[in-house]
Amino acid sequence: MNDVEKRIDELRQLLDKYNYQYYVEDNPTVSDAEYDGLMQELIRLEEEHPEYKSPLSPSQRVGGMVQDEFQKITHKRSMLSLANAFNEDDLRDFDRKIREVVGKDKIEYMAEMKIDGLGMSLLYRKNLIYAATRGDGVVGEDVTSNVITIKSIPTHINLEDECEVRGEVFMPKQTLAQLNEKRKQNHEPLFANARNAAAGSIRQLDSSIAASRNLDAFWYYFVNAKDFGVRYHSQALDMLDSLGFKTNKERRKCFGIEEVLTYIEEYTQKRNSLPYDIDGIVIKVDDMSLYDKLGYTSKTPRWAIAYKFPPEEVQTKLLDIVFTVGRTGKITPNAVLEPVRVAGSLVQRATLHNEDFIAEKHLMIGDMVVLRKAGDVIPEVVRPLPSKRNGEEKPFVMIDNCPVCGAPLQKIDAMHFCTNPHCLARQIESIIHFSSRDAMDIEGMGEKVVEQFFNQGFFTNIAEIYTLFNYRDQVIALDGWQSKSIDNLLNAIENSKNNSMEKLLFGLGIKEVGEKMAKTLSRKYLNLENLMNASEEELLSIQDVGPVLAHSLFTYFKDEKNLQLIEKLKQAGLNFNYLGSTSQSANSYFSGKTVVLTGTLSSYGRKEATEILENLGAKVTGSVSKATDVVVAGVEAGSKLDKAMQLNIPVLNEEEFLELIK
Ligand code: NAD
Repeated sequence: MNDVEKRIDELRQLLDKYNYQYYVEDNPTVSDAEYDGLMQELIRLEEEHPEYKSPLSPSQRVGGMVQDEFQKITHKRSMLSLANAFNEDDLRDFDRKIREVVGKDKIEYMAEMKIDGLGMSLLYRKNLIYAATRGDGVVGEDVTSNVITIKSIPTHINLEDECEVRGEVFMPKQTLAQLNEKRKQNHEPLFANARNAAAGSIRQLDSSIAASRNLDAFWYYFVNAKDFGVRYHSQALDMLDSLGFKTNKERRKCFGIEEVLTYIEEYTQKRNSLPYDIDGIVIKVDDMSLYDKLGYTSKTPRWAIAYKFPPEEVQTKLLDIVFTVGRTGKITPNAVLEPVRVAGSLVQRATLHNEDFIAEKHLMIGDMVVLRKAGDVIPEVVRPLPSKRNGEEKPFVMIDNCPVCGAPLQKIDAMHFCTNPHCLARQIESIIHFSSRDAMDIEGMGEKVVEQFFNQGFFTNIAEIYTLFNYRDQVIALDGWQSKSIDNLLNAIENSKNNSMEKLLFGLGIKEVGEKMAKTLSRKYLNLENLMNASEEELLSIQDVGPVLAHSLFTYFKDEKNLQLIEKLKQAGLNFNYLGSTSQSANSYFSGKTVVLTGTLSSYGRKEATEILENLGAKVTGSVSKATDVVVAGVEAGSKLDKAMQLNIPVLNEEEFLELIK
C-alpha cells in the first residue's frame, strides 16, 4: 500500500468507527467539526485518486444504521443526507453548478434552519401509519410508539391519499440543559449535544422515556407534494402548515445566492438566541420540478446543500495530564488546562479518554491546544498546535500503576484498568453506582453526598451504607444537613432493602453485568445465592452470556472480600430474591420461545407486549428468521408477516395472543 492508499484506508476506518458511535450508540467521541474535517480529507483524496474510489466508502453512503431491537421499515423513497458547504466559496460553487444545469442566471432558493436533531419520516393514510428513522437511508427503524408521544405531531390529517412528510425531531435547548443536569446528579453520562439527546430518546424501547423527554419536531419536506399539484417547496411547506404540521417559521425565500449569504450572516448572529439548536442552514432549490434534472448522488440530492457553522474554538495550554479511576477500575487520563472560557463557561479539565486517544492526537504536556465544546456541552481537546512548541514540552507516558492504590494496571483494548478490586477510588465510585437510580435507587445519595460521607469515614463500602444511621448526629453537625434531610436519606436507604434482586445485582457493579443482563440473570436464578453458586460452565450455557461475562461473574463470586461484603448485605436485611413475575413463566406457551411482534396491537403497546412476553420467559426479537418460533401479528402487519408465512412460522392474532398470556 502506498501512503495515499494507507491514509484513505485509515480515514475510512476512523469514519466508520465514528459513524457507529454516533448513529448506533448515540455517543460520539469526536466533535462534528472534527468528523467533517476527516470526511472532507477523504473526499478530496478520493477525488484526486479516483482509482481508490469505492461504493463502500463512508463518503458514498448515508452514515446511519438500523438496530435489531426495532422493526425495520423500507422507505418508499430513499432518505438521503445532505452535501456540506463550509464557506462562501462552497456555496457559490453549489449555485454555479445548479445555474449551469438549469440554464438560468438566478435561482430561487428556500433557506431554512438546519435543526440539530434526528431525521424522521412520517407516512399517513389519513391516519399516521408509521414513523421511521432514516437508518441507512433505505431501511429505517420503526419508532412510531415513541414519536407519537410528541404532542405537536398530528395522528391523522385531512388528506385522503397517502402522503409522506419528513422532518427533524429535536430536543429544545432548555430541556437538554435540564436533562443533563439531572443526569449529572444521577451519575449518568451526559448527552454530548441536542442531536444525540433526541436520538437517544427516540431510539428507546420504552416509550415512556421518549414521552418524558419533552421532544418536539419541525417538518421540512413534503415528499410527494407533486401528487397534490404542488410545484414549489415553499408552497409545500405552507401546505404542511395548513395540514397541522409544525414547520419552522424562520425560513425565507431567497432570490439568488447573494440573498442566501445575507440570510446566513443574519442567522450566524441569531442562532444562539433560538430556543433549539441549529448546526447550520439548509439551502434548497424552490422549484421541485427541477429536482430530477439536477439529480442525486448515492448519498445526497444535488438540489440542496447544508451550510455548517464553524465551531467555537479557543486555544489554551495543556498544563498536565492526570488520571482518575472509575468504578470498574478504568483509568481515564484527563487534561488539566489553563482555565479558558468557551461557549459560555470556564473550562479547566477535559477527558482524554485513553492512551490511544492521546497518541492519535500526538499531544505533549505543555502543548498549546485547540479546545472546543462538543455540542456546547462537553469540552474537547481537538488537536495540539505543534508550531507553538518551544522545546519544553514533555511526551506523555502512560502510567503502569494505579494512581490511587499503586496496583499494576492491565490493558484491555484501548483501556487500562486497576487490577485491585478493593482500590479506594473504586470504592467511592462503586458506592455512587450502587446508590444510583438504575441500581438501588437511593434518593438523596448523589455523588457529592457519597464523597462527603466517604471522606468523613461514615462508610467505606456499599454494605456500610446500611449502618449510616450510627452517624446520624455527626451528619447533622455537618454543613448543609438537618435532621429532616438525614432522616429522609435514612428512610430511602431503609426502603432500598426491599428492592428486587436485579437492582442489587446491577448495583454490585460486576464488570460486564449491565442492567439488562442483571435482569436476565435474576429471572433465571431467582435468588442471588443461587447465582453465586453457579459454575462457569452453567453460566456459559445461558443465552446471551459469553465467556468474558461468565468468567467475570464467576471470579467476582469467588473473591473472599466480595463474599464478605455480600454476607454483610444479607445481615443488614437486604432482599436477595427476584420479585418480578416468573410464576407463570415455566408453564407458559411462550416460555423459551423466540417471538417477533409485528403490526399494532390494540390492547398493548410494543413495549408492554415485549415486557409481558419476556416475563413469560420468551425472547423477543426484531426480525423474522428460521430461529423465530412464533409471530404475533397486530393490524397493519407488513413484511414480517409475509416472511413468517414463507417460512411456515406459526402466527398468532391479537385474540390468540391475549388468550395465551392470560
Ligand atoms: P447532516 O446532519 O449534515 O445533514 C443531513 C440531515 O440534516 C438530514 O438528514 C436531516 O435530518 C437534517 N436536517 C435538519 N434540518 C433540515 C432541513 N431544514 N432540511 C433538510 N434536512 C434537515 O448529515 P447526516 O448524514 O445526518 O450526518 C452527517 C453529519 O453528522 C456529519 O457532517 C457530522 O457533522 C455528524 N456526524 C458526526 C459524527 C461524530 O462522531 N461526531 C459521526 C457521524 C456524523
